[in-house]
Amino acid sequence: MDAYDVVLDLTGDEREFGSTTTLRFTAREPGGSTFVDVAAVRLRSASLNGRPLDVSGYDPDVRRVGLTDLAERNELVVDAVMAYSHDGEGLHRHVDVADGRPYLYAMSFLDAAPRWYACFDQPDLKAPVTLTVHCPPDWVVSGNGPARELEPGRWQITPIGPIATYFTTLVAGPYHVVRDEHDGIPLALLARKSLAEHLDREAPELFATTKRSFDELHRLFGRRYPWGEYHQAFVPDFNAGAMENPGCVTLRDAYVFRSRATDSDRLERQITIAHEMAHMWFGDLVTMRWWDDLWLNESFAEYLGQRVIGPHAWVSFGAVRKAWGHAADRRPSTHPVAGNAAADAAAALAAFDGISYAKGASVLRQLALHLGDEAFLAGLRRYVERYAFGNAEFADLLAAWKDGGADDLDEWASPWLRTTGLDELAVESGALVVRNRDGAARPHTVSIGALDPAGDVPVPDAYDETWAKVVLPAPTWDAMPELLPAVADARTRVTVWNALRLAVADAEVHPSHALAVVLAALPAETEDTVVDSVARWATGTLVATYLDDATRPAGQAQLAAALFGIAERSAAGSGRQLAAARAAIGVAADRERLDGWLAGRGLPSGLEIDTELRWVIVRRVAALGALDDAAIDAELERDHSSSGLVHAAYCRAARPDPEAKAAAWRTIMTDAECGNYELYALAEGFWQPGQRALTAPYVARYFAELPGASQLRSGWITQRVALRAYPWTAVAPATSNATDRLLAADSLPAIVRRAVVDAGDDLRRAVAARTRFGLAPDAA
Ligand SMILES: [Zn+2]
Repeated sequence: MDAYDVVLDLTGDEREFGSTTTLRFTAREPGGSTFVDVAAVRLRSASLNGRPLDVSGYDPDVRRVGLTDLAERNELVVDAVMAYSHDGEGLHRHVDVADGRPYLYAMSFLDAAPRWYACFDQPDLKAPVTLTVHCPPDWVVSGNGPARELEPGRWQITPIGPIATYFTTLVAGPYHVVRDEHDGIPLALLARKSLAEHLDREAPELFATTKRSFDELHRLFGRRYPWGEYHQAFVPDFNAGAMENPGCVTLRDAYVFRSRATDSDRLERQITIAHEMAHMWFGDLVTMRWWDDLWLNESFAEYLGQRVIGPHAWVSFGAVRKAWGHAADRRPSTHPVAGNAAADAAAALAAFDGISYAKGASVLRQLALHLGDEAFLAGLRRYVERYAFGNAEFADLLAAWKDGGADDLDEWASPWLRTTGLDELAVESGALVVRNRDGAARPHTVSIGALDPAGDVPVPDAYDETWAKVVLPAPTWDAMPELLPAVADARTRVTVWNALRLAVADAEVHPSHALAVVLAALPAETEDTVVDSVARWATGTLVATYLDDATRPAGQAQLAAALFGIAERSAAGSGRQLAAARAAIGVAADRERLDGWLAGRGLPSGLEIDTELRWVIVRRVAALGALDDAAIDAELERDHSSSGLVHAAYCRAARPDPEAKAAAWRTIMTDAECGNYELYALAEGFWQPGQRALTAPYVARYFAELPGASQLRSGWITQRVALRAYPWTAVAPATSNATDRLLAADSLPAIVRRAVVDAGDDLRRAVAARTRFGLAPDAA
């Protein structure tokens, strides 16, 4: 592939746009044939080397145009009419409800580039892209290369180097822009006009993180940022956290905080910024040859993102990301870090999971300990130098370390990267014991610590450095409510919290005892990242699904009291206070307190009910049945914004009202036009642990209707909806059996199937734990 020249006409109506692409490419076998990827509504024309192609038989579902009789050097011109998307992929168009203005961005990942221009959509066919954009005169345009306004309403983006199709982008609309510069690199931040005041307020911190990360990444890679300018566009309805388009990263605009954020929220945002910046080298400059080496991109970006931000980030990694990865690695759908065997792009999307990110990054941490940091970095630099602007695969990376003298690397890498599952780590008679079910001997570099000052209660991996299930003996768990609050090192506490979550999932610790550990130790937890993560698990998983109807009400009340207590006793205005308050509201049954807070009464000192916290309360009040449609409309009137609309959707679905449930369900299962964020909110609000009688009929309906609903939509949105709409509040063998029957019928696209397998595994574990400890399943 030699070059793309794309001309977009964005001056038409709100549904379609014109896309004319000129592709210049060389054929390895002149006379041969191939095809170009193009997902158009219709093709106006196409020509190859000046010869018109017959496009009358173009099928929008097949998304391809066949090309025959190729010359050695070819010029293909495809003139297409394409549709704006509302699912966050392709060229997404969002109308801001705050002011009615339209905002566009292109998301090409994973296979969505052909939804906005004709291309050879494959990660190892890189080419420079020139983009000309016709748009309304008051718009701002940003993309992978520097953008120039040629005249009002006509912009050109010039190429900065060969790039893969999956990270081509365009951001266009009346965006608000803040500019800066660092070390010769022009910087810009973009967000919708209605977020302008918030972007201006957050810009100093965003730029500071960006600048600090550039300095550190320049040092680590020993090679300068290669893509000219660095723009970060905060865009609406974004499915992922962010996307590493070279020169123009797109991020979800919830990162432009509208309200007070916790330290944990800020840390997550910093890590995301650094993660995407690491991709500029690892992923963008050197790209995996095919999606089966996805981990090369994500494990490294995850690892470097934490490393660049520093020690605090590793505590957050342990508490938040590892828990996500642990869950993924114990499921039937687990896969090795390296080589996910993705035959096609759809299969690869399923591998964007806790294994490719959290496990992969943990393995790299182990590798850095194993090789020594200098040797680790030297290999990384060698690899980037060798394959810059090109593609590489797993063997190439290993070779880069072996060339530095790491001779035993194959032996080390194979059990870590080619096998699945968690080893079990225990301390027996003072020595580390590693148990592995499938015999893969993974070498662990870890420290043994103690949970008590006398050193009588040992804990493996005390600094949370490896990837394993830490197994503690029963007497240690019995004493945990006294031990854990006194552990001084946050990393050791994270190791214990993760051990607890895994022991509950494996039905080894009684759910009520796990709750006792939370009630005793969470009030002593000082890291708000950990408070946030453990509180989410305790409210959303432990109490909601592992306790039964007999034990849940008391458990929930105790948990709410403990969390409100943390909010009362935390430093006024601190992130810890806010994290605890949010979690407490989520399980509060005490309407009086919630109503009081909404009216500004009885608040812990320093806690303010700002826009987002107000919605947290309103969502809970709606789920408890105290808000009707008019009251939800009134809340939306207070916060007339795109986020407000999403919160209101959650509230409507959460109401314990048969008609509200029916309306939400209809949209989830049959409305192909509903925007992605609104759909996620409806699915999230629908299932509430306290509303089982009302939602019982929908358990069977989920399994009956999901195959049809999955045909309505494609990509991320189908997976998200399948996961969130799963009847997770019906913890009973019947739900497990229905899950098995649906999977056996084999009627689901791969990505939806994966969501059902994973949600089903979570439910099955809760059922198994209840059985093991004599707790009742939920009655149908
Ligand atoms: Zn990434």
